[in-house]
Amino acid sequence: MYKLMPTTPLACRPHDHANCVAGALAEADALCARQGVRLTELRRRVLELVWQSHKPLGAYDILAVLSEADGRRAAPPTVYRALDFLLENGLVHRIASLNAFVGCNNPEHAHEGQFLICRACHTAIELEQPAISQAIVAGAEGVGFVVETQTVEVVGLCAACAPKQREA
Ligand SMILES: [Zn+2]
Ligand SMILES: [Zn+2]
Ligand SMILES: [Zn+2]
Repeated sequence: MYKLMPTTPLACRPHDHANCVAGALAEADALCARQGVRLTELRRRVLELVWQSHKPLGAYDILAVLSEADGRRAAPPTVYRALDFLLENGLVHRIASLNAFVGCNNPEHAHEGQFLICRACHTAIELEQPAISQAIVAGAEGVGFVVETQTVEVVGLCAACAPKQREA
């Protein structure tokens, strides 16, 4: 057996994930209402699917659920447009290395995405460390590079998987 650290993120602990989903959807409703943008039924459903776990989900996985479970004939461009909307409004982040999307924990304010991605269970843990983005901007400035967007993706083992790998 192993002991989890007190700082182990929720995503790596057994928890009532329905709360995460309900919270994310409620936050999305409030945020879209405030910004005067429409969270259509499809956009909301796509967000709910992205939030089905803390593991990034690909567009084709989303499409598969939409057509199998919901029985909708959603065309890929429709799903991509819904994902674009969610990205633009900061409700999801794109994980380029996995070509997948993950729900944002804190869509209320603009931030650069920093992710710790577990190579064993694929959970993505969002970090918010302004010092990291500042260091990237400073480093880029040093070579005359203007940073427009930055998403930092770090691969390793999460707090739940690292001890198992040590035991194995
Ligand atoms: Zn959860
Ligand atoms: Zn975020
Ligand atoms: Zn893991």
